[in-house]
Amino acid sequence: MAQRTPDYDAVVVGAGFAGMYMLYRLRELGLSVRVFETGTSVGGTWYWNRYPGARVDTETMFYSYQFSEALQQEWDWPERYPAQADLAAYARHVADRFELWPDIQFETRVDAARWDDAAGLWTVETDDGTQVTARFCVMATGCLSAVNYPEIDGLEDYAGETYHPAHWPADGVDFAGKRVAVIGTGSSGVQSIPVIAEAAAHVTVFQRTANYVMPAHNRPMAADEVAEIKANYPALRAKAKQSFSGNYFPVAGPSALAVSEEERNREYEKRWAMGGLAIMATYADFQTSEAANETASDFIRNKIRTIVKDPDVAELLAPKQLFLCKRLCVGTDYYETYNRDNVTLVDISETGIDRVTPEGVCVAGHTEPVDVLVLATGFDAVTGALKRIDIRGVDGLALREKWADGPRTYLGLGIAGFPNLFTITGPGSPSVLTNMIPSIEQHVEWIADCVRHMRDAGLDRIEAERDAETDWVAHVNDIGDQTLRATCQSWYFGSNIPGKPRVILPYAGGFPAYTEKCDEVAAAGYTGFALR
Ligand code: NAP
Repeated sequence: MAQRTPDYDAVVVGAGFAGMYMLYRLRELGLSVRVFETGTSVGGTWYWNRYPGARVDTETMFYSYQFSEALQQEWDWPERYPAQADLAAYARHVADRFELWPDIQFETRVDAARWDDAAGLWTVETDDGTQVTARFCVMATGCLSAVNYPEIDGLEDYAGETYHPAHWPADGVDFAGKRVAVIGTGSSGVQSIPVIAEAAAHVTVFQRTANYVMPAHNRPMAADEVAEIKANYPALRAKAKQSFSGNYFPVAGPSALAVSEEERNREYEKRWAMGGLAIMATYADFQTSEAANETASDFIRNKIRTIVKDPDVAELLAPKQLFLCKRLCVGTDYYETYNRDNVTLVDISETGIDRVTPEGVCVAGHTEPVDVLVLATGFDAVTGALKRIDIRGVDGLALREKWADGPRTYLGLGIAGFPNLFTITGPGSPSVLTNMIPSIEQHVEWIADCVRHMRDAGLDRIEAERDAETDWVAHVNDIGDQTLRATCQSWYFGSNIPGKPRVILPYAGGFPAYTEKCDEVAAAGYTGFALR
């Protein structure tokens, strides 16, 4: 039984889409809540990622909250894939509408959280040395928020301007007349390169791995389209939740190999014209059959060859790894940009980068002089933001140590040895393999229901059981290792961070199977969790 009165019932770390909704739900239960946020405003990912061309690549009518029917009816998205500024404006609107601001402390980084088992409380320490206590601690720290600065010799000696897409200056960057180097061709590079190329004197792209990039075909939302979606929102949202990614994409069939080449290509053409991520759901065997997967890989490679005029450049841009092994990218004029006179592609797949000099980027002995260096080098995904906080559980156990060989969680929600700590879209949950907002909502609602259950039953301590956690980790790894996603180096497996254990980070069993499991656990009185 808890012995002391805490400063707050709950501390929430992060005021992105997860932290904002968690605050709303916990406050609705009557809890006192403090949210700590490093940035100066709400929005998380959509606060930080202000790079040129930043826009969501999931259709925003569905990449948005659904917990409030009034909110989803009143808000109008301007485009199919709104830009960062529109997403940040939406986050601020949500904070206004639900009066979230007073409970969020901005410009405050959480550095440490320590569990005191005798008191049954978390002590959370922020970067100004302040400590607060709380019964519950909820980590809403995001899956792609811990920035990865690459380890490249000489980087610190570079004399020009250096930027990472996720730490982009609020006032933007003036590229006019400048020579720019972009290192990295994941989603951030893919979205920013065409926009930077329009403004800069010259752009040199350093590509280690080519990615599959689908055209976005972004456009303004038509009034009748919006009206139809809004009229059918609950049914469309329910349908999306039944799909593997929590995102409604029509599936054309169980196997790419069960149909003729003509039929398959017709289907791929349709999805290329549709734009966005829908191609990934075309056939159900893209993650299980290499031959099926190759049909889609070939289709996209051929598209690249028809768009990019220089055949050598086209070959460099044609990905070698299987389709969907790395995260699919969505771009606007990405491949077309390599037809511009002011864009050069440098393949570093064999050589890497020798070093960065004060003047520029040196590859295979040649230094390309540049004025601006854009490090579109991604994130320490899923676990990075959690491991950067010194989290200590029962008997001072450090989360960093517990996870030294890879993350261990039960359902990506709770961790054995860390009572009353919840992780929203934590490792071992579908998170980054799904539409993030429905996944966030599902976690927030599960946690809020659990807290309500504890309050109603007079319980104040919950901890994942070690056996349940062990079984879940084994299940997550089994499923992850069975998919073709396991055949390349990607951030899904931590491969982009030197020294990070190679372990699948998200749960690859799909949104419906996962939510069913979470619901079963709750309905049976939180099996796999010890409550008292
Ligand atoms: P990323 O996908 O991890 O891409 C990082 C890029 O940097 C890769 O091309 C990587 O090459 C390269 N790189 C990393 N370290 C390097 C080094 N030392 N030397 C040379 N190249 C290096 O990161 P991201 O583009 O920021 O995207 C991360 C994720 O965020 C995406 O997959 C997506 O889930 C999300 N995202 C979404 C959107 C959207 O919704 N619109 C936009 C941006 C990001 P390798 O591939 O060889 O490692």
